[in-house]
Amino acid sequence: MPRMSLRERISEGLFLLDGAMGTQLIASGVEAGECNDYLNIDSPDTIFEIHQAYFRAGSDAVLTNTFGANKFALGRHGFSDKVKEINTAAAKIARRAAGKERYVLGDIGPSGDFLQPLGNLEPEKLEDAFAEQAKALSAGGVDGFIIETMTALDEMTIAIEAVKSVCGDLPIFASMAFDKVTGGFKTMMGVDVESAVAKMVSLGVDAVGFNCGTLKMEQYVTLAEKFAKLLADKSDVAVPATAKQTPNVKLGAKHVLLLAEPNAGKPELVDGRTVYKVTPEDFAAAAEKIHSLGINIIGGCCGTTPEHIRALAERLKK
Ligand SMILES: [Zn+2]
Repeated sequence: MPRMSLRERISEGLFLLDGAMGTQLIASGVEAGECNDYLNIDSPDTIFEIHQAYFRAGSDAVLTNTFGANKFALGRHGFSDKVKEINTAAAKIARRAAGKERYVLGDIGPSGDFLQPLGNLEPEKLEDAFAEQAKALSAGGVDGFIIETMTALDEMTIAIEAVKSVCGDLPIFASMAFDKVTGGFKTMMGVDVESAVAKMVSLGVDAVGFNCGTLKMEQYVTLAEKFAKLLADKSDVAVPATAKQTPNVKLGAKHVLLLAEPNAGKPELVDGRTVYKVTPEDFAAAAEKIHSLGINIIGGCCGTTPEHIRALAERLKK
């Protein structure tokens, strides 16, 4: 475990997350459609090496390879009984790569199902599933959690409450995926930024923000401006006036930081494959603008590589 707790560390300023896991897995020969989460059991060295590459590039934390490691998402691959094994293994692999100085965030993604009344998923069952995942990640030694790529506010709410119910006081980051719509941004499920921020902040998480989505780099910057403005308008939330200034975070008090994990630009379909074309330099240039808005927790989502994180670290850690 690092000497400084994750909550103390993020209160000190810039904190770099990693880039994509899926993109690196495909680059290392894993077939699309394979269960990425099962690789924690089946091919732990592959996962360890990807984590290591991100730490070498300058990440302060990596996300466990558990985006789809809840009972429902694993069930689609026939692994619904492997939640504990997969999540604990994933946390241990990331922990080993992080060593004593760096951090591990337990990654929790969506169930992939719709809650009632839109779908058949019962809220209690979903809460149990996220609690089961969080417990197993915690057993493997994570420093905190990131609930990400959520598009439904009810699912995000349930996930936050589930993690809180089993993981004591470990920090929680909450992040939703936005697309561009006329006049602003909304998630696929129609959640606007105002509602997302208000709900996530009211649930008392440590950081709120955005990841993934289908935006161009300049649109991610605009989205970041929107987040920064919304949080600055809330009197109980501390946002640094400038990025260089250490944020005034009262530990344990209800203060919320901002996080951003853009994709490497808008996804494009080439020969039936989804590709992301933004170069490390252009990614880092946009991330620098995002950082200048007071957003201190920054990483990359789909299409970003260790080279994107290296470019980011070179620009922001100077
Ligand atoms: Zn993504």
